Amino acid sequence: MPTSSKRLSGIIPSGKDGWEVHFEAWKRKEAGEPIIVLSVGDHDFDTPGETVEACVAALRTGHHHYTQLPGVPRLREAMARASTRCTGVETSAAEALVTPGGQLALYAAVQGTLDRGDHAVVVAPYYATYPGTFRAAEADFTVVEAEAADGFQPRAEAIEAALKPNTRAILINTPNNPTGAIYSRESLEAIAELCVRHDLWLLSDEVYWTLGGGHHISPRALPGMAERTLVINSMSKSHGMTGWRMGWLTGPESMISLLVSLNLVTTYGLTGFIQQAAAEALENDYGVKQIADTYNGRRKVFLDEVRGLNNVTVRGSEGGMYVMLDIRAVEPDCEKFAWALLEAEKLAVMPGSSFGDAAAGHIRVSLCQPDDVLLEAATRLRRFASSYR
Ligand code: PLP
Repeated sequence: MPTSSKRLSGIIPSGKDGWEVHFEAWKRKEAGEPIIVLSVGDHDFDTPGETVEACVAALRTGHHHYTQLPGVPRLREAMARASTRCTGVETSAAEALVTPGGQLALYAAVQGTLDRGDHAVVVAPYYATYPGTFRAAEADFTVVEAEAADGFQPRAEAIEAALKPNTRAILINTPNNPTGAIYSRESLEAIAELCVRHDLWLLSDEVYWTLGGGHHISPRALPGMAERTLVINSMSKSHGMTGWRMGWLTGPESMISLLVSLNLVTTYGLTGFIQQAAAEALENDYGVKQIADTYNGRRKVFLDEVRGLNNVTVRGSEGGMYVMLDIRAVEPDCEKFAWALLEAEKLAVMPGSSFGDAAAGHIRVSLCQPDDVLLEAATRLRRFASSYR
């Protein structure tokens, strides 16, 4: 057989990927063990019924055909309006590119800003697909950790120290997966100032913007940033639509026009009836408030229980779908902790080390279960942390 491309074989380096505890937990749950799985970030509820009905109606009214490459006009309009609310910058439909999920918006942002061998800075802890997305563009990247002691707020000086002559972009994510940190105005202003001074793109992943307690700050609104910020957005989390694959990228019109060529050679436009349903969901905010209230409530319920533990410290955990717990006073090795927790209490969480060095010594707990399950998980965690030796 002829050889395969080096570019693709390099996207996911072989070996451990940090998801071992989760996969083992899932296997045991399927085999009938009473395991609570708080290691993954997918809603425990279905997409709001109104969105499903909108999709069925669109299917029944003939939305079966090829669609415009950048997305159907109605959806681009709806996404532009959502972007205006998300970023605080008046956004037109021409500045919004419809993509199959936030992941493809991220892929487009990286493809649009970096040539082979160009360099980017990626702020960690970060979402698991980031490194592979840069490798797919044959771009070079440096990881800069936002430290646990800073509540996982990024420091602009550390980012600046990592810049190289060929650095073209910085990638950040707020509200953050995995830490739940919401980057402060000061952190974002310092990063924005760096981008302007060094003439860099800022790739800003804001897919959790509705799950931040209502005070989302987008760096696109900061001085000099509208022309150099690409905002990655998605309906997966905000509208309960993970499986529908609906996301979008917002940025300067010239960049968005350029990226239409990427849609040409990849998806050739997206599914018509899903775009109609997504437009209706955005126009009417189907599920948005309810989902945000659900996660804000769950975060409070779980953290109220955990804050009482004297050997577990809450860090970040201000928004998004996860909380991050510093468990170093119990066990410095978070992977060992996560495996032992699974064995002793049948509770699955992600070791922080799966998300980079700064999150080592922590566990990430997903809030994708109802209150009663989260309370039971907190009980199991308390029992485990107080008796661990
Ligand atoms: N960015 C972050 C930070 C995420 O956590 C996720 C998904 O979990 C994505 C992007 C990708 O979102 P989507 O499911 O819309 O592709």
